[in-house]
Amino acid sequence: MERCVLNLNYCADIDCIDSFIPRDCLVVTIIDAKIAEIYGKYFPTPQIRVVASENNKSLQSVESISLQLLEMGVDRSSFLLAVGGGVISDLVGFIGSIYMRGIKFAYVPTTLLAQVDAAIGGKTAVNLSGFKNILGVVNQPAFTLICPEFLNSLPKNEMLAGLSEMLKTFIIADRDNYFNFLGEVRSRQLEAKILWPFIKKCSSIKASIVEQDPFDNGVRKLLNLGHTFAHALEKITQLHHGEAVSIGIILASKLSVKLSLLQSDEELTIESDFKDLGLPVASPVKLSSLTDVMLKDKKKTGGNLDLILIESIGKAIIYSINVKDLEGLLNDLS
Ligand code: NAD
Ligand code: ZN
Repeated sequence: MERCVLNLNYCADIDCIDSFIPRDCLVVTIIDAKIAEIYGKYFPTPQIRVVASENNKSLQSVESISLQLLEMGVDRSSFLLAVGGGVISDLVGFIGSIYMRGIKFAYVPTTLLAQVDAAIGGKTAVNLSGFKNILGVVNQPAFTLICPEFLNSLPKNEMLAGLSEMLKTFIIADRDNYFNFLGEVRSRQLEAKILWPFIKKCSSIKASIVEQDPFDNGVRKLLNLGHTFAHALEKITQLHHGEAVSIGIILASKLSVKLSLLQSDEELTIESDFKDLGLPVASPVKLSSLTDVMLKDKKKTGGNLDLILIESIGKAIIYSINVKDLEGLLNDLS
């Protein structure tokens, strides 16, 4: 299996970012418009400001930004710096991968979700007519630079979105840090300085999983824990991705108990921990409608589906299950 090495960097102090900006070429910063207003002065290069929305993660944005890059004289020797959440990194990574057949780009993620997830691993994408992440490539950034200071301005709901991805990563791979992390965030606010050591841990776990399997053919699939359910929930409800992931992890835990993979006290621990943090744990729609969405295409073709299930907090597995069996089990859960 192909391996790669990710270049993940941390700076506790926002002033340090400057030392990472290349000096020997034209650098253009493509920056979330909101971030440009608050932190723009830390990026003293030509800037292109983009409103971070799923609508703008589009081919139209690829075209308009690429035209601006051409006008600015960006060529194959230039460098793109993406500053923002996952919308900006997915979009800039895609542009960097195809502009003049590919130029160097790097990420400075500003949401918790991007710091522990979206800006690590090289998956780039834009949406196509409302269908998410249809066009994209896997291409690693020159570096990802994580700085906790951006989180001071991040709204609570965006913090919670990142929180469920962090819990996901610890449930997959790091039992001790799952409990350490909960101990810290339960008793205090979601402050950047409390989160910082866990952001470092969590991002490095994701990086090491990606390094083993950059193209998602094996162990990287573990990072989809809760996501098969979450994507179905997002299709039929207005839930935010983080909320859907939280409910998806609980459903995966319950299914794991049903299959005798996980002890029920571990499932109850996860459920009560998530509740304590203010994350939703129950599906707002009937599980049968969720099953219909989840299995829509698979039901036609039959066969098996790879689900990510839990053996214990700190250990997830890829579990291949027949679609008909899964339907029966999910219906029993409701
Ligand atoms: P986002 O980029 O849409 O940002 C969310 C909101 O927070 C926006 O309004 C943005 O302007 C604002 N914001 C960003 N940083 C801020 C800050 N420091 N202070 C105040 N406001 C700030 O959201 P996201 O959750 O980071 O990313 C979601 C996107 O990431 C989705 O498009 C998803 O498909 C993608 N994603 C990609 C991967 C991957 O591996 N490539 C993984 C997970 C998610
Ligand atoms: Zn996710």
